[in-house]
Amino acid sequence: MSLSGEKGRYRKQELKSMAMDWLARRGVSVADMAALVYEIQKEYIPGLSLDGCRESVERVLEKREVQNAVFTGLTLDTLAEQRLVSEPLLDMLQRDDGLYGIDEILALSVVNIYGSIGLTNFGYLDKVKMGIIGVVNQHKGPQVNTFLDDIVAAIAAAAAARMAHRARDMEEEKEQQLPPA
Ligand code: MG
Repeated sequence: MSLSGEKGRYRKQELKSMAMDWLARRGVSVADMAALVYEIQKEYIPGLSLDGCRESVERVLEKREVQNAVFTGLTLDTLAEQRLVSEPLLDMLQRDDGLYGIDEILALSVVNIYGSIGLTNFGYLDKVKMGIIGVVNQHKGPQVNTFLDDIVAAIAAAAAARMAHRARDMEEEKEQQLPPA
């Protein structure tokens, strides 16, 4: 990595909408990810709304490390699908080899953005294969989703962690505003 200060061709907001397009083309919408956030946070945040979850997913997608994980992971999935990856990697990606592990490693760059609670959420989503994660994970046929399922779980986990932190911040702010007893 170098920090030459050279600006890339794309701006952050543009990268966000490109990341959303890439995910949508692979079968995952912001609404799908918002539904995961809702499921994992509904017990903990009173009055949680799907709109709020959706907003949190969108905010996560504004982060460069998230956008970069989407572009990198989905490029590898697509190249494997087109058989444009060399062996033995092609075989591992096409079979979604459980011992490959780099798909989870890439997802961790997203999971950790809002602290370690993201890791707990990610582990849970990965284990129960909730909602859209189960759908992309079970996908049989020509589409390779080796990276997609982990990236989607990671985005939802990060968005949920973000909401958990914000809910606590708001509670504390409210406490501070109470008149002295
Ligand atoms: Mg995977």
